[in-house]
Amino acid sequence: MQDVELYRQLLGLNTPWTVTRVELKIKEERVEVWAGHAESARWPCPECATELALYDHAEERTWRHLDSCQFQTHLRARPPRVECPTHGVRQVRLPWAEPRARFTTLFERLAIDVLRETDVKGATRILRLSWDEAWEIKRRAVARGRARRRPHVPARLGVDETAVARGHDYLTLVCDLTEGTVEYLADERKQASLDGYFAGLTLEQRTQIQAVAMDMWEPYVQSVQAHVPQAERKIVFDVFHILQHMNEAVDRVRRHEHRLLRAQGDETLTGSKYVWLYGEENVPDHHQERFTELTRRGAGRRLKTARAWALKESLRDLWRCRSQHAAEAQWQWWYARAARARLHPVLEVARMIKRHLPNVLTYFRHRITNAMSEGIASKIQALKKAANGFRNRDNFKTAIYFHCGGLDLYPDSTH
Ligand SMILES: [Zn+2]
Repeated sequence: MQDVELYRQLLGLNTPWTVTRVELKIKEERVEVWAGHAESARWPCPECATELALYDHAEERTWRHLDSCQFQTHLRARPPRVECPTHGVRQVRLPWAEPRARFTTLFERLAIDVLRETDVKGATRILRLSWDEAWEIKRRAVARGRARRRPHVPARLGVDETAVARGHDYLTLVCDLTEGTVEYLADERKQASLDGYFAGLTLEQRTQIQAVAMDMWEPYVQSVQAHVPQAERKIVFDVFHILQHMNEAVDRVRRHEHRLLRAQGDETLTGSKYVWLYGEENVPDHHQERFTELTRRGAGRRLKTARAWALKESLRDLWRCRSQHAAEAQWQWWYARAARARLHPVLEVARMIKRHLPNVLTYFRHRITNAMSEGIASKIQALKKAANGFRNRDNFKTAIYFHCGGLDLYPDSTH
């Protein structure tokens, strides 16, 4: 088999296309493959598919293709143009690449697979791509996937936020809690951020939303109330966000108490910040000893931090109740305990929950939590970590849609 025929087969080129020349550049570890076509070929207009004779050729272009062993392989061709009576002079579709792509479809598919498994830096090394090329592939994949998406409204939404790099710069995320996908992203965490999602839905679609899990964050509450009929029955202030507030309260108690103890030369709480963040059942091995010491002996020594932590732990029982009725009783018991503890940060959170209690207890109607979007949140944390934070907000959005959007990212192989 001659190399032109070999590459025709490898590229899957069919009439009227064929491989006209193959050049092996040993020193550069590069294979160049030229594609050409029969003069007599007729071409469909890309707009209306009318078959037309060749008009002329555009300038020669190059597409990166799958490597041939260790040799980078590039396909070259001059794209034919036709003159359609309706659409004027147009470049025809090429069977090996999407319009305007710099890569063949097969290469782009491989790149998407690699980018899914590793970060951009790793992908640039494996695929021998530049940073910009890798991001271009990601962006195109996301645009493709989002354009293909059929309009649908998740019955159970999760609204969340994530910080962009460092500082107080946020993105608002709307998640489909059933599918575990990010449906929508918007800048900041204002009412307008979430309004943008609802603006894309009809009233009928918004009526189909059955429940919305979110934090006790007024701008989001306002937005849901303005757009979702019967919002007061559908909003669920979810357990994850509430426990996040409690964790922050425990930490504030710890910081304060640590300062006081330290002033007396007592280092009991030194380096204990993360120990207190765990629930009893998920303490990692390396923290276990410290955890037991602090929570058990800490309680004996009447450490305020240990009391705050115990309150946080017992608050979780609220969501283990079998009915809303039982939960109401549990809440009364817990609130009285929290009030007696006289720990200001804990009491602040307790009061906040009390103010919002009806929409905490909607949990017992809908049984939703942001647990699903919690999974997304940890994926997003991993993305941030891999990227060392995102200095570029658009790249961050692209990465979230790419990895968490549940999108069909591949280029279409049929054209
Ligand atoms: Zn046409």
